[in-house]
Amino acid sequence: MYGKLLIANRGEIALRILRAAKELDIKTVAVYSEADKTLKHVLLADESVCIGPPASSSSYLNVPAIIAAAEVTSSDAIHPGYGFLSENARFIDQVEKSGFIFVGPKARTVEIMGDKVAAIAAMKKSGVPTVPGSDGAIGDDVKENLRIAQEIGYPVIIKASGGGGGRGMRVVHSENTLIESIALTRAEAKAAFDNDEVYIEKFLQKPRHIEIQVLADGKGNAVHLAERDCSMQRRHQKVVEEAPAPGISEEIRQKIGKVCADACVHIGYRGAGTFEFLYEDNHFYFIEMNTRVQVEHPVTEMITGIDIVKEQIRISAGETLSIKQSDVKVNGHAIECRINAEDSVTFMPSPGKINYFHVAGGAGVRMDTHIYSGYNVPPYYDSMIGKLICHGETRDVAVKKMQQALRETVLDGIKNNIPLQMRNMQDEAFIKGEVSIHHLEKRLENESKK
Ligand code: ADP
Repeated sequence: MYGKLLIANRGEIALRILRAAKELDIKTVAVYSEADKTLKHVLLADESVCIGPPASSSSYLNVPAIIAAAEVTSSDAIHPGYGFLSENARFIDQVEKSGFIFVGPKARTVEIMGDKVAAIAAMKKSGVPTVPGSDGAIGDDVKENLRIAQEIGYPVIIKASGGGGGRGMRVVHSENTLIESIALTRAEAKAAFDNDEVYIEKFLQKPRHIEIQVLADGKGNAVHLAERDCSMQRRHQKVVEEAPAPGISEEIRQKIGKVCADACVHIGYRGAGTFEFLYEDNHFYFIEMNTRVQVEHPVTEMITGIDIVKEQIRISAGETLSIKQSDVKVNGHAIECRINAEDSVTFMPSPGKINYFHVAGGAGVRMDTHIYSGYNVPPYYDSMIGKLICHGETRDVAVKKMQQALRETVLDGIKNNIPLQMRNMQDEAFIKGEVSIHHLEKRLENESKK
């Protein structure tokens, strides 16, 4: 195992990584922007380096500053967390060229998964089920495009190969608007992602979002850690996540899990990763692979007892995966509520000083957060300030625990979405399980009319 890890991130995930490193007896280096001097992990790290002004573009996305910080602190490895530079192939390349270990996959893997057409092609080749659609990027032949969409069957969705974060997509309901929609999506994609490649997929009407967590060592060993359901979304942002997914049998879990683990071996995947699927009528349809640790990883940790961040670090140190598939057992049910500094009705961000913060407690209650009483939430970054995770022997127990944990949490000084999460935990359809990705938005729309 190496001796020193630089954490190239902020907030709760930076603290999460720091804790994992401490357990592995690895020294930690925090890098922070001028707005983040008082972040909890900065205060707890063995060393810390200021890497620039508050704007992410000048700090957390500032590659030369981060590499320089690794150099002056003689760090061995860099953990990117999620967001920021975590899925930036050029960053990975630079990290490795500068002689540091990147905690994550190879640059080439990240590059392929960042390009939707290339990712889907790689997945198809590896036996992962994908959404029926055009075979890769489409051309400009009107007749041919009409034929492709006809064959897929309307509605279809036109997607930009370089798209991300729910941008660069357009749903088409009939052939009357197909050609014009392709041209529009192409023009937008060119402007936004500097890549005008687009493709067509069947538009699934009421899918769920189910994803499979994997761990692979890049040396031919890979396991899956069961699935998560992240269907409770607003504007393509996950709001509530859980594991396992309601209604997924052990047989289906093992089948789709094995497909993903085998695909990891096939593409030489290294590290933790997630295969994201839309799930409809008992079928899984691959949409993308995330090549990093995800916000919602704790629900998987709670049901499997496996520390995903420690495994990431061990894998990056060149260790062979010590977990066999038969070691992975699903135990009970876990739910995560993202806690955001935002108005729970208007969703307007609400940075500012936290006067008082009291964490919920009890068996099976976990709060991953960097905030504390007196901490000032800066206005420059994502509004997520923590994650409340509850684990119970059944889904019903996990829901009840979450209701109580939300009640016990006191977060005074800034507006937050705890009231929204309380409504989510009392939402009858959610409590029943198996809601589609449109459920939360539709409910919010109805609530706003009242
Ligand atoms: P991004 O990289 O922008 O997140 P994804 O391909 O993951 O793009 O799609 C984002 C979201 O768009 C999905 O979570 C889903 O809500 C919706 N979506 C994407 N493809 C389809 C599809 N074929 N049918 C229905 N909805 C889709």
